[in-house]
Amino acid sequence: MSLQRVITDDRDLQIAPLFAQRIDEDVVPKGRLAENPMPAGVAAGIVRSRLLLDGRAALNLATFCTTAAEPELERIYAETASINLMNREEYPASSLIEQECINALANLWHDDDGSFVGCSTSGSSEAAMLAGLAMLRRWRERGGAGRPNMVFGTHVHVCWPKFCNFWDVEARMVPLAPGRTTLDPLLTADAVDENTIGVVAVLGSTQDGRYDPVADIAAALDGVAAGRGIDVPLHVDAASGGFVAPFLDVDFAWDFALPRVVSINASGHKFGLVYPGAGWCLWRDPEYLPASLIFDCNVLGGHHPTFTLNFSRPASGVIAQYYQFLRNGLAGYQLIAQRCQEVARQVAAGIRAIAPYDVLADGEDLPVVAFRLRDPEEVGFTVYHLSEALKGDGWHVPAYSLPPDLEHVDVIRVVCRQGFTLDLAERFLESLLKHTERLTSHPFPLPEVATALTFQD
Ligand SMILES: *Cc1c(COP(=O)(O)O)cnc(C)c1O
Repeated sequence: MSLQRVITDDRDLQIAPLFAQRIDEDVVPKGRLAENPMPAGVAAGIVRSRLLLDGRAALNLATFCTTAAEPELERIYAETASINLMNREEYPASSLIEQECINALANLWHDDDGSFVGCSTSGSSEAAMLAGLAMLRRWRERGGAGRPNMVFGTHVHVCWPKFCNFWDVEARMVPLAPGRTTLDPLLTADAVDENTIGVVAVLGSTQDGRYDPVADIAAALDGVAAGRGIDVPLHVDAASGGFVAPFLDVDFAWDFALPRVVSINASGHKFGLVYPGAGWCLWRDPEYLPASLIFDCNVLGGHHPTFTLNFSRPASGVIAQYYQFLRNGLAGYQLIAQRCQEVARQVAAGIRAIAPYDVLADGEDLPVVAFRLRDPEEVGFTVYHLSEALKGDGWHVPAYSLPPDLEHVDVIRVVCRQGFTLDLAERFLESLLKHTERLTSHPFPLPEVATALTFQD
């Protein structure tokens, strides 16, 4: 008797072993939906096998976003996936949780008089749009005329030039300089005028993790107010630093403790320790969030003031944030941040011990390590070759070039996040050493590899 059996009946898909399926174009047509349903297990199997082609999140040293979590957090996401934060009437508990997160952040960021307002967002980019809009509207309502401008360093995240582009605001960029990768307070003061809607300082540059000297920038703007009578608000983009500085750099003044700081954004999905899709924006006082921007959303019968770009959006990031606040408390966040910084120091020390590299950032502010080749001509390879080579061992590490005012230095960046353990860091350094030796002793010139102008995440 033959063991072969031809599956002729569609129903057999229900019982055939998953790997007996022939997953071809008939099952997964290209560019259109399939005619018929398929069993849930088969569909999920196809999706999962497709996703195998993605990189492994934990070995992605490029991103600032959370890639590791305890199983309880994963369950919170699964259990809350259907909640729409916009339906505040239907989900009052979720709305309250959002407010509790805002209250906790206001406390963490020293808004001590309780007059703050805030909202959750899908990330720091949406928060930047909202904070920028608030500054733009306030400037206009106070009689601003002509073309508005916003002042920031060339190292800011792309979300700020994007804000300026979308809302037709002049992006007035203050140059960095060799040896100075942060915003210079005096140059900032020189750049502002009566059309400046605000200045943005960055707490944790994506390039090298450094903090802009926020207190000095605030003082320089105080000087402008006293001397030239121009009162310019300061926003702090604390996408990463908002969840790091309060735990590692308690004496560093950057938040609402500085009267000039009117608003702050942070990404919950970076060092806030939740998965992508969560951000925050807070204003020191309703005065800085013009009422004319607030919409009263009348959903399912209730009236709720909102300031968002989206209408419907998931509540899971907000609920996950609340879970992490409960789970970690101040001490938990501090321990995790300290661990990340310890790993960054170890990685920086390991890289310093490998001959051709110079370390540009060693985790002093954000737990980020950035390094360059001291002399690419001499070694005969670039950081782009190195980045390609490391991929062979599963590591995803971006190489990119710093802003032009830093002479187009090509660097590699390693973000030390929760889940990048000392043990994994050791393996990474082994891999780095191995590839450095191979590339250095390569017998013939290496082919060019694509370079990236800037990398932002
Ligand atoms: C990541 C980042 C952003 C953008 O944040 P998203 O949450 O990814 O939208 C903005 N600014 C800085 C400094 C960042 O690090």
